[in-house]
Order: sequence, then C-alpha cells, then structure tokens
Amino acid sequence: MAKKRTIAGNWKMHGSKAHLKEFVTFMANNSALLHEQVDTILCPPFPYLDAAATLFKDVKGLKLGAQDVSAHQEGAFTGQVAASMLSEVGCQYVIVGHSERRQFNHENDELVAAKFIAAKAAGLTPILCVGETKEQRMSELTNSVVIGQLQALLAHGVAVFDNAMIAYEPIWAIGTGLTATPEQAQAVHRLLRETLAEYDATLAKSMPILYGGSVKATNAKGLFAMPDIDGALVGGASLSATEFLEIANAAI
Ligand code: PEP
Repeated sequence: MAKKRTIAGNWKMHGSKAHLKEFVTFMANNSALLHEQVDTILCPPFPYLDAAATLFKDVKGLKLGAQDVSAHQEGAFTGQVAASMLSEVGCQYVIVGHSERRQFNHENDELVAAKFIAAKAAGLTPILCVGETKEQRMSELTNSVVIGQLQALLAHGVAVFDNAMIAYEPIWAIGTGLTATPEQAQAVHRLLRETLAEYDATLAKSMPILYGGSVKATNAKGLFAMPDIDGALVGGASLSATEFLEIANAAI
C-alpha cells in the first residue's frame, strides 16, 4: 500500500473564530473529496483549539494540532501551554522548533528537543521543523545545519522519533513566495532520511518528512512527486480552505 501523505496547515497568528467556522464548514461540505490516504491537520492559534476540536467532529479526516508547546509539565510558567493541556482539548499533533519561534523567541536546539520530548510524553505527535537560512544555503551549510538540528533529538536516542514527523522548512522559503525546487527539497529530505537510517532503517523508511515553504496548490504536485517528500507543512495558503483542500488533493 502507498505511504500515507500528510498535509498540515499552520495558521500562525492569523484567523478568528468566524474564519475557523467558515473553514471547517467548507471542509465538512467537501469531506467526500478528502482522500483516505491523506491526513489533514490544522494548527490554529491556541485560543481556537477547544472550539476547533468540537467543530472537527463533523469532518472525517481533519485532525487538530497546536503551533507550540511548553517543555514543562506544569508550574509557574506564565503564558506557556503544557502538552497534557493540548492533549486534553483534543490535539493530536504539535509543531516544535518552527523557525519563527527559533528566531523571535530565541528557541535553541536544546529547548526544541525538550519540547519535542514533552509532547511525546503526553501522547502527542510532534512535528519537528528544521531548515537553513538563505546565508547558510549560500555558504553551503544547509546539510550541516539540518543534520545538527536532527542530531539534537537523536542525542536522546532514535526511539524518540517513533510516532513523530519532521518538516524541512528552508527559512528563505517561508512566507516569501520562494519555494525550494522539488530537487532542492528532495536532496535535503533524502539526507534526513539517510541520517535516520544510520540509526534505524525501518523507522527512517516510514518517517513522514514534510516540506514547508510557500507551498501552494500550483507548486504542490511537483514537490509531492519526489520520493522522499511525504506531504507539506503549509503556512499562508492554509488560511484558504479551498487552497488547503487542493493541496491535499495534489498529494494523492
Ligand atoms: C510555515 O509557516 O510553516 C510555512 C511554511 O509558511 P508558508 O507556507 O507561508 O511559507
């Protein structure tokens, strides 16, 4: 059987309750178009997660994720949200190490690893984001940067990657309209898979590795044609339900 594809939408700090309702109504009305080989995940901002979990009950195949999680289980951490809380409101997935959090919230590899492990402990599937800046790519540092980000987790043992996902998101392609070519993305996805295979070949083969960076309905098919691209993490384009559905259908 063909490997499942995953299309995850990251709304970042966009949207509203009304937008969420409209999005889910569209998905519910078109759920017949959602292919069972494609998992769709939506990660709206924290305040909408609870409402989203209720609304998602009407849509077969649409799953809920969060955009970040605390590394701590509970305590005096004002503004942070524990993995158990995400799980309690119906989240199954959480994005960790998104480049915007690494950049604006100064999250380093160590903190990202702690968040990833906290998510796993609460039964969530973490989506680990890795990716290089434009300067790093131009200095031919792409491979060492993404492998370094992966190694920060591998240092905890390859088993942490059971029931997890990786998203390769070149920073220069996020929200810029620039997309890595399918070949550029494939080369990094292959490298990530080969690195995992050095530790566990079976796990490496089944590991979902998503691509993120200005994915749209118009460029999705070319990316999904690559053997090591298992889906997409979609930012801006996921705010439109029609576009999101088109991207999901391009994955079949
Ligand atoms: C993202 O936020 O993860 C992302 C890939 O954004 P965009 O699709 O807008 O580039």
